[in-house]
Amino acid sequence: MRILITGGAGFIGSHLCDRLLADGHTVIAMDNLITGSTDNIAHLAGHPRFTFIHHDVTNYIYVAGPLDAVLHFASPASPVDYLNFPIQTLKVGALGTHKALGLARAKAARFLLASTSEVYGDPLVHPQSEDYWGNVNPIGPRGVYDEAKRFAEAMTMAYHRTHGLQTRIVRIFNTYGPRMRINDGRVVPNFIYQALHGQPLTVYGDGSQTRSFCYISDLVEGVVRLLHSDEVEPVNIGNPTEMTILQFAEAINRLTGNQGGIVFKPLPVDDPRQRQPDIRKARRVLGGWEPVVSLEEGLRATIEDFRRRLGVP
Ligand code: UDP
Repeated sequence: MRILITGGAGFIGSHLCDRLLADGHTVIAMDNLITGSTDNIAHLAGHPRFTFIHHDVTNYIYVAGPLDAVLHFASPASPVDYLNFPIQTLKVGALGTHKALGLARAKAARFLLASTSEVYGDPLVHPQSEDYWGNVNPIGPRGVYDEAKRFAEAMTMAYHRTHGLQTRIVRIFNTYGPRMRINDGRVVPNFIYQALHGQPLTVYGDGSQTRSFCYISDLVEGVVRLLHSDEVEPVNIGNPTEMTILQFAEAINRLTGNQGGIVFKPLPVDDPRQRQPDIRKARRVLGGWEPVVSLEEGLRATIEDFRRRLGVP
C-alpha cells in the first residue's frame, strides 16, 4: 500500500511509519513540526519507500500519485500543548480532518482517524466503552482538543455515510514509549525527566485520579489491525491496567531508583478523575488483539530512551 500519515513526525506517527515500512508499504509522512520533530524520523532519511513532506494539513493537501490509505494522526496531544496551541488544535481536528478526508476521497483511499479517550471527557461511566457518549466541557481548556476530536469523528462518519468512504476510527487511550517529547508536559515524560534528575515527581491534585497506560508497540499493533479490518465505528485501543497517578509516581521512582520523592501540585482544570478503556470490542473485532507489554517492561524501555536522549547515566 501507499500510505500517507499526517503527524508522521510525532510520537505515535513516527512509530507507525516504522511499522508500516517494516510491513513493506510505502509511507509518506506529513507534519508541520509544531509538536512533532524530524528527530523522530531521522533514521528513515534515505529509505527508498519513505518520504517526508513539511506541511500544515489545515491547508489544502497535495500529494502526487495514488494513495491506498490516509492515516490522520496530526494534532497536539498533550494537555500542555493544547493550552499552548488551542487554535491550532481546533484547526487540525476540524479543518485538518476535512482536508485529509477530502484527499482520501479524491484518491479513493481508506481513511483512519486517530481519535482519543478525551471524547469521553471526565467520564461518568467506567470503564469507558465505545457506546458511551461522554461528559465533555466544551468551553474548558481541554475543550479545544475534546471537541475537535468529537467533530473529527462526526466528519469521518459523514464522509462514510455520504460518500461511501472506507473509514476507521481509533480512540487512543494514554500511550507512552520511546520518542515522547521530553517537555510535552504529560505525566510520563514529566515523571521520567524528574526522576532521572533526582527531583521530586510533581503529582497533580492528591494523585487519586486514575489512568491506564498502553505501550506504543501494543497501540501500533491495534491501529494496524484496525486499518485492515472492516470495523467502521470507533474502537478503543489502550491498556486496561488502571492505576492512580500516585501509584504511577511510585513505580517510576522505584524503577529509576529516584530518591527525590513526590511533591503535590494543583490539579489542572477538568482533569478526568478516572480513565480505563473497555477493550472488549477491540478483542472481538481485531482478532483477539490485546496489550502484551507489561508496564514494567514498557517503562524500562522508555526510561532507557530518555536516559540516552538526556545524556544522563
Ligand atoms: N499529571 C501529574 N503530574 C504531572 C503531569 C501530569 O500528576 O507532572 C497528572 C495529570 O493531572 C493527569 C494524569 O497525570 O491526571 C495524566 O496526565 P497527562 O498530561 O499525561 O494526560 P491526560 O491523561 O490528562 O490527557
